[in-house]
Amino acid sequence: MSELLTIDSISVSYGSIKALRDVSVRVEQGDIVCLIGANGAGKSTLLKAIVGLEPITTGSITYQGHCIAEAGSSDAKKMFPFFGKRLGSSNNLRTDEIAGRGVALVPEGRRVFADMTVEENLDMGAFLVRDEQKIAQKKEEMYDFFPILGARRKQKTRSLSGGEQQMMAIARALMSSPRLLLLDEPGLGLAPLIIQDIFEKIAIINREEGVTVFLVEQNALMALKASKQGYVMENGRIVLDDLSANLLQNDKVKAAYLGE
Ligand code: ATP
Repeated sequence: MSELLTIDSISVSYGSIKALRDVSVRVEQGDIVCLIGANGAGKSTLLKAIVGLEPITTGSITYQGHCIAEAGSSDAKKMFPFFGKRLGSSNNLRTDEIAGRGVALVPEGRRVFADMTVEENLDMGAFLVRDEQKIAQKKEEMYDFFPILGARRKQKTRSLSGGEQQMMAIARALMSSPRLLLLDEPGLGLAPLIIQDIFEKIAIINREEGVTVFLVEQNALMALKASKQGYVMENGRIVLDDLSANLLQNDKVKAAYLGE
């Protein structure tokens, strides 16, 4: 197994709020890795840093062996790509460049385009794909994988249930055939049975399509059961990391996150 994503000692601040402090995470190719933590721990911020939406103030992020973000590296080139070489080199890739390398984020709260149909939402997910035939084929694959989306393809997304919208948000991310899928609280606000359905789909995407998954969740039990490796975040720091099977038996995790 090789390392697909390496987050090395990164920090992120929002003004005076230190949201991430010296965070390191490793994601092996082919694995499902989870990050659990309470509300406000910094989980979403970590995902945003990976896709270039929040600048890091320490450390670096490496994906497929290439640095995609580095503290202190100039952001000027990222902001003004037309000036190219004149601004010198920057290791900080733009969000669209990171997406182009095969990283797809399903954001917290799904962020679907409510007034667009299911089909139009899926088209949005394929914005980096030029080949119309490939897009049509990928949509059919998604309709096979999530039959409810096939049945509702012409309906406005706002008419879907929360669970169906979450499935659509995952399908939209899969339209770009990512190598690494980042999921921000896929179970948020959903009933237990629906959460189970969604986690089953995530397992299939990982097992059968070979997509590596980095999953952020407040639902620690589901996340640890679904993953191989787990990290626990508190107040912007990683306080524990281990095989998920071990974390499920860990007394501190049991008391703080599993309600035991
Ligand atoms: P949740 O599950 O509630 O989304 P989280 O673990 O994902 O929590 P983050 O959203 O990453 O946590 O937030 C981490 C910290 O950074 C919190 O204290 C939050 O209030 C703060 N924060 C997040 N986004 C911003 C922002 N845009 N401006 C200022 N502070 C922010």
